[in-house]
Amino acid sequence: MINIIVYKHQVLVKNTDNSITLPDTVSGISNILIPIYVSDNHFVATINDTININLGEFYFIGLRQALSHFNIELAKQIVYYQQLNEYYLTHKFCGRCGAKTILRAINKFVYCESCNSENYPHIAPSIIVRIHKEDKILMARGVNFPPESYSLIAGFVEIGESLEEAVKRETLEEIGLEIDSLNYWGSQSWPYPSNSLMIGYTAKYKSGEIKLDTTEIEAADFYRATEIPGRPSTNFSIASRMIDEFYNNQKI
Ligand SMILES: [Zn+2]
Repeated sequence: MINIIVYKHQVLVKNTDNSITLPDTVSGISNILIPIYVSDNHFVATINDTININLGEFYFIGLRQALSHFNIELAKQIVYYQQLNEYYLTHKFCGRCGAKTILRAINKFVYCESCNSENYPHIAPSIIVRIHKEDKILMARGVNFPPESYSLIAGFVEIGESLEEAVKRETLEEIGLEIDSLNYWGSQSWPYPSNSLMIGYTAKYKSGEIKLDTTEIEAADFYRATEIPGRPSTNFSIASRMIDEFYNNQKI
């Protein structure tokens, strides 16, 4: 049984033999857990809050730390259930008629008896782009990034946009550059801020001088593989894998 206990962007863990593991049993704290999904293999739950709660040997760690720590299959499951929990928390009432919804956990959606409507988790597409110029790529530092973190240009797709239009718009808005030669790279479910699907592209610099939107980006420039100024905050991310690929292809 895999016990995944999530609270906001955190997951419950304990220390076992000098490493961090998910709880092998949660029977000692079952009185405070609110189940959100139960199957033969999984017990997934949340709690109301962490104030004045005795978690015993357990404690919460941030999702970014957890994603770097656990193997990729388990990290993907934690991301999935964290997002499912966020969906339930924000859909307690029907968006159509305002009545209280019912959790249909087996099918992973909420149902409104009052107006007979079903609501399924919404996924928010976002793009991320690795922009190449000669033997360099563009690395940027967002204003809210952890210290020394750098990543690629990314942003949400807006209503009415294609993915490619979103890639070009975000690049122009955030750093003032025009790009072309877009190619699909890959995608990843991503829990920040919630329910994102990150869709990765590579692109080539076309024209323009770097001009930062300082409400979002505090630094950006083109760097060779050996000069990359910082890394994304977790190596679980698609950003990290896209940068690794560039690094591994370029290093001598
Ligand atoms: Zn309703």
